Amino acid sequence: MLKKILIANRGEIAIRIIRACKELGIETVAIYSEADSNSLHTKFADEAVCIGPPAPKESYLSIPRILSACEVTGVEGVHPGYGFLAENPKFAEICEENGFKFIGPSPEAIFAVGDKTNARESAKKAGIPVIPGSNSGISSVDEAKKIGEEFGYPVIIKAVLGGGGRGMRIVNNPEELEKSITVAKHEAKGAFGEEKVYIEKYLEKPRHIEVQILADEYNNIVWLGERECSIQRRHQKLIEEAPSPGITSEQREKIGEQAVAVMHAIGYSSAGTVEFLLEDNNFYFLEINARVQVEHPVTEMVTGIDIIKEQLRIAGGEKLKFNQKDIHIKGHAIECRINAEDPNNNFIPSPGKIESLYIPGGLGVRVDTHIYGEYKIPPNYDSLIAKLIAYGETRAQCIAIIERALSEFLVDGIHTTIPFHQSIIKDERFRRGDLHTHFIQS
Ligand code: ADP
Repeated sequence: MLKKILIANRGEIAIRIIRACKELGIETVAIYSEADSNSLHTKFADEAVCIGPPAPKESYLSIPRILSACEVTGVEGVHPGYGFLAENPKFAEICEENGFKFIGPSPEAIFAVGDKTNARESAKKAGIPVIPGSNSGISSVDEAKKIGEEFGYPVIIKAVLGGGGRGMRIVNNPEELEKSITVAKHEAKGAFGEEKVYIEKYLEKPRHIEVQILADEYNNIVWLGERECSIQRRHQKLIEEAPSPGITSEQREKIGEQAVAVMHAIGYSSAGTVEFLLEDNNFYFLEINARVQVEHPVTEMVTGIDIIKEQLRIAGGEKLKFNQKDIHIKGHAIECRINAEDPNNNFIPSPGKIESLYIPGGLGVRVDTHIYGEYKIPPNYDSLIAKLIAYGETRAQCIAIIERALSEFLVDGIHTTIPFHQSIIKDERFRRGDLHTHFIQS
């Protein structure tokens, strides 16, 4: 087991990792930017190191500063959380070269899945249907037009190295193609440093279903059921649940086995997710996320497995202590991502001081958050302020619990997406489990 690690992240996920470490007896080092000096992760960790200002260059992205913090605090490993450097193969490689265990997949595996066209190829080789589209980056508008003609419009142009819902453009007819490719390339270059884009058929009413994987460094891979993440706004997830209310147990088994197969093909270790879109009873591979995801708690609630602790054990060189037949899905869990945004004003970010706060509790309620009364949310970061997770024996019970918990969640001083979540949870279509990725717009 690792003895001391550094957490190269902030917010709720930094606290989530610190909690797992405390329970495993691992010492923790937090890093924080000057904008985060009042953040709770700096107080909950055993040590905290300031790594500089959030601008002009974001300090949480500064590999030299993070490595210096590792050196001076004498840690054995680095947990990247999600976002920031979590899926940067160079960072994973530099950590390893400097003798710090990267708590995640190998640099080679991150690289292999970071290129979405490469991940599509691996999925195809493992026998998984992929969304119809280009096999690699598109090199000309004519090539894109041919694909559009072959599969029909709409199509979606995506950054080969994309992530976080950025660098995607939907194209409804061939006339829009040229301009959209130019814009998408420009966006991709700005966001990911690489302008390569590819093209896929745009599915108009799919469900987003993903499979959680745990893999040790000895080729043992298990899947921990699936999550449904169809409630999205602008391709960003808002509400996730496990299990999916929209698939059969045969479909579940099939995608579970396919997810394990593709991860074996890649030589993957640590926690990871294989994402699919489901339309008209057909599953299509979407992508692989080589990290722990925001929505991992719903899987933890229905399996009883602490995914972060498992990541830490795997990084410490341990074998998985369970195999597939030991994994049982019990009950139902739903997560609402609570953002500091104004849902009545186009979801504009609403940073600022929390004047007063009440965090809900009671049976079946879990809140992963870094906020507290009088905390000042800095304007520099992601607007996620809390994850409200409910667990019930059935989906109906779980809905009743999350509805009750949302009504108790009181945040004064800033706008939050709580009222928006309440309206979705009330929606008859949501209650019926009639979900798709355009639920919010429709
Ligand atoms: P990112 O890595 O940026 O999150 P993904 O490829 O995972 O991007 O897609 C995010 C979301 O965008 C999906 O959950 C889905 O709602 C939408 N999306 C992506 N590709 C397609 C597609 N081909 N057809 C329909 N929706 C898509």
